[in-house]
Amino acid sequence: MTAPQGRVRLIAAVSVPLPGGTAAIAAALEVPRGTERGSEFPGRRSTRVWADDATVVKIRDDVEWAARDAERWVEARVERERALGCYPPERSWFVLDADDGDPLRIGVATSRRRPLHLWSDAELEAGWPRFCAAFAALYLDAAEQGWRLDEGLSNLAWDADGVRLRYLDDDLYAWDRGTALQLGLPALARRLGWLAAEHGEALGRALREELRRRPLLLASAELADALRLDGTASPFLAAVAAELVRPDAHPASAAGSGAADGATLVIADVHANLEALTAVLASDDARGASRILVLGDVVGYGPDPQEVVERLASDERVVAVLGNHDAAAVEGAPSTFNADARWSAEWTREHLDAEALSWLGSLPRERDSADGWLAVHGAPIDPARFNAYVYRMTADDNLDALELAGHSLCFHGNTHVAGSWVRRARTMPGEFVAPELPLALERYRAALVCPGGLGQPRDGIPGAAYAVLEPDARRIRFGRVDYDLGPVQERMRRAAFPDKLIARLGLGR
Ligand code: ZN
Repeated sequence: MTAPQGRVRLIAAVSVPLPGGTAAIAAALEVPRGTERGSEFPGRRSTRVWADDATVVKIRDDVEWAARDAERWVEARVERERALGCYPPERSWFVLDADDGDPLRIGVATSRRRPLHLWSDAELEAGWPRFCAAFAALYLDAAEQGWRLDEGLSNLAWDADGVRLRYLDDDLYAWDRGTALQLGLPALARRLGWLAAEHGEALGRALREELRRRPLLLASAELADALRLDGTASPFLAAVAAELVRPDAHPASAAGSGAADGATLVIADVHANLEALTAVLASDDARGASRILVLGDVVGYGPDPQEVVERLASDERVVAVLGNHDAAAVEGAPSTFNADARWSAEWTREHLDAEALSWLGSLPRERDSADGWLAVHGAPIDPARFNAYVYRMTADDNLDALELAGHSLCFHGNTHVAGSWVRRARTMPGEFVAPELPLALERYRAALVCPGGLGQPRDGIPGAAYAVLEPDARRIRFGRVDYDLGPVQERMRRAAFPDKLIARLGLGR
C-alpha cells in the first residue's frame, strides 16, 4: 500500500498541536498498517491507516473532495469533537493537497496510544475500577450530547500519564438510549472470561453514579432488566444489574457510620501552632463536631509540635492524613525544602518524643469516606498526595483526577489559602469560590476544598482558619477565630527560629 501523494496541510486540532506537526504525519505515512480485526488498528475497509512509533494517521479513501468542501467539513467536525471532549487533545485533522491528477483527501492524526484491546488480562484487571469510572463518564458525557460512542476496547486508550481515558474511533453514532451498551456488556463478559462479580459491582456502581447525574438519558432499571435477561449465567452481568438498581448509598452510609451524624470540622496546616489550634478547638463549631478531619502538616514551622500532636492524637474524633512537613519530621527534610523549612524540620524532630513521631509516621497519605469525599494534604493528582498544590494552574487537572478516582469532593491543605476550586459541568473549566459564603455542594459536579492554613495563613487574613462539613454533607462553611499571636512568636524567638518564620505569622503570608 503506498501513501497517497500530496502536501500535508493541517487544518485544526482538538485543543493542542500535534507533536511534530506535519513532519510527524509525513514520517508516519512511511509505515502502512493493516486494519483487520484483532490488529492494533481494526477499522473499516475504506479507512487506511499508517503509524510509526509516535503517530497514527488515518485517511478516508472513499470520499474525494473539492478543496472548499473538505475544509468546511473538517471545521464542522473539529467543532463537534471539541464540544464532545472525549478525544485526544492533539487529534489533528488535515488535508492532503493533491499533486496533479490525484484526488484531495482528508485525514486525521493522533499521537500513538496503546488501545485497551491490546492490554493483558492482568493489566486490565489491575486498572479495572479506574477504567469503570473513566469509561462511564466518557460514554455518558457523549450520550448527554446526543452521541453514542462505540464501546469496543480497541476504541479506548489512556493518555501516557494514565490520567484521562480517550476515544480513538473516528465514527460517532446517534444516542440509542443504551441499546448498544445492553449488547456490548455481554460481549465484553464473553471476551474477558475473568470478569467476576466484583468487577461487575465496580462497573455497575460507576454507571449508576453517572446515570444519577443524567436521569433523562437512560433509566438504570431499564439497563439492569436488559442485562438480567441476557446475563443469568454471568455473575459479572448479574452484579452490574444489581449495582445499577441499588438505592443511593449516601443517606444510608451517613446514618450508619455514627461519626457522620454530626458535623465534620476540617482543619489543615496546624504547623505546631498550639495557640491557634486551641482557639479553634474551643469554638462552638469544633465542640459540635463529631469528627475532626486533619489534612496534614500537623507540625513544622511552629514552636509546639509535641503538644499539638498530643492534643490531636488524644482526641478520638480525629481522622488525619500525612503532610510533607510531618513526613520531614519523621524521615528528615527532602532536598526540595528551603533553608528555613529544613531548619524547622530538624528542630521539630528533636522536639518530638518517640510516641509522637510514631503517631505522625502512622498517618496515611489519603483517606476517603463513605460519604464520598477524599482527603489529602497536597493534591489528588500527585502520586505522593502531599507535595503538589491545588491552585489556578493545576485546578482543572486535579478536578479531572478527582472525578476519575470516583469522587466529587476533595479536602486538601498545603496551599494555606481558604476557598474552593469547583466545576459545574464536565466541559466547564474550574472556578474559584472564595470562603466568604458557604459552598453549596449540589451546585457543583466536583469540588476541591481547602479550609485554610490553621496555624500559618497565607491568604493575608489573620486568625486560625477552619471549615465545617455540615451533617447532611451538602454544605461547607468556612470559619476563622482570632487568637493571640504574641506568645507563639515569643516562643519561636526563644527557640531561635529564623526571623522570616516568626514574621510571616504576623503578615499572614
Ligand atoms: Zn503546610
